[in-house]
Amino acid sequence: ANPFLNLDYEPALESLGDDYFDRVAAAEFPQHTLRFRNDDVLQQLGLDPQQISETDFIEAFGQFQAREPFLALRYHGYQFGEYNPWLGDGRGFLYGQIRGTDGELYDFGTKGSGTTPYSRTADGRLTLKGGIREILASEALHHLGVKTSRCFSLIETGEKLWRGDEPSPTRSSVMVRFSKSHIRFGTFERLYAIKRPDLIQKLLDHVIEIYYPHFDNLTDKYLQFYTELVQRTAELAAQWMSVGFCHAVLNTDNMSITGESFDYGPYAFIETLDLNFTPAYFDYFRRYRYSNQPSMCKWNLEMLQRPLSTVLSQTEMAVSLDTFDKTYHGTYRRRMLQKLGLDDKRCDSFDAHATDQLLTLTLDFLQKTQIGYHTFFAELRHQFSSLWCTDAGHILRESSLIAEYSAQLETWRQLYNQLLQKDKPESIQQRLKSHNPCTVITRPTIEAVWDPIAIENNWQPFYELLASLKNP
Ligand code: AMP
Ligand code: MG
Ligand code: MG
Repeated sequence: ANPFLNLDYEPALESLGDDYFDRVAAAEFPQHTLRFRNDDVLQQLGLDPQQISETDFIEAFGQFQAREPFLALRYHGYQFGEYNPWLGDGRGFLYGQIRGTDGELYDFGTKGSGTTPYSRTADGRLTLKGGIREILASEALHHLGVKTSRCFSLIETGEKLWRGDEPSPTRSSVMVRFSKSHIRFGTFERLYAIKRPDLIQKLLDHVIEIYYPHFDNLTDKYLQFYTELVQRTAELAAQWMSVGFCHAVLNTDNMSITGESFDYGPYAFIETLDLNFTPAYFDYFRRYRYSNQPSMCKWNLEMLQRPLSTVLSQTEMAVSLDTFDKTYHGTYRRRMLQKLGLDDKRCDSFDAHATDQLLTLTLDFLQKTQIGYHTFFAELRHQFSSLWCTDAGHILRESSLIAEYSAQLETWRQLYNQLLQKDKPESIQQRLKSHNPCTVITRPTIEAVWDPIAIENNWQPFYELLASLKNP
């Protein structure tokens, strides 16, 4: 009964049988006001946004009842290092799966669509601000070249929600998320905990068939899958680190088996290169601090070895996990050199030592001075011409830190200058532009668009910010 999307023709996960989910109904909401719909994604599905009316869209993505029941996915997970078997889709479900024009299978997963058997004492709802924050994170990351889920829709639902950290009730919403898969590391961990190796193998076969089809006919397909997941996850961690993103809740139930980034709760972008930056106020031991993200991803991959040990040898998996660091450092280095406007491939052949030294100096400088991480890189394009002259302080003329760090800056400038000489100014300028956004959704930026919504229901600044993320 869906007016424009056929969500019924490919029930990939549903076809595995009832062991992986519970069938649930959606909540009925008092209000349905469309606040965001992702026309980019509609096009990726081969649909013309012009042809889809707001009424039809709201019916499909705010009033779900026509397609009930839905699948609340079962999973466990390690949360802040402790195993938690009381997890699962507590405020969402798998709404449907669909092929994009690229031939890949995608999930529509809800967030805030009502309670399920996994809600425990919570309300199954999503705050409007939470929805807005997830839209901003996923759109920003996507346009910065980070593999991420997207937000497909956000509909305001007219309920009053009480949250512990707010003195007064706040507005409600329901989101539909668009991503490669909602199968998590924790999905496998649950099957291991309930001692069902048969279900582990069945799910693994499914994951490889759908998301790693290039391994499907190989005799060592399970090992190939794990090895590629290690690499994808290492790349993802490097992507987060280079753009200055801190996910904040890297529990194994928030780790996707396709290596995509998803589930944006208390995340934040760093403002300065503060290695201890820890966005979640409840993360007392700073487990998920900015600089700890690579090792936490690696730890999660190590935990995944337990369920996978039912089909794979631990020794082989350990060898695969050992490739994490190399992939992580390679990707991080390449992305940081691009942020400096340098061609990572040429740097490799000419001057691996000099580029490493430049990177070390840059990071050391950003860390010691605590000048704006994003401003520093965004400013490089304007300061570019002055890098060629001898005015070492120019790049930070306004900063009082110049005197203190002038010797270090001079070494940095000379080294940088030397590397810049090896390439055409236009190419450098192009790289500086495309890898360093002018708009970054740091916390103050988010507050600046939330306040007008909260105070006078003015959505204009939010839509303008969204537009500026498209062209970083
Ligand atoms: P998260 O920290 O967002 O990854 O969520 C951890 C667990 O809590 C998952 O099982 C969620 O489904 C559940 N959960 C989070 N928020 C709510 C809510 N408002 N209502 C019901 N369950 C929730
Ligand atoms: Mg989650
Ligand atoms: Mg969440």
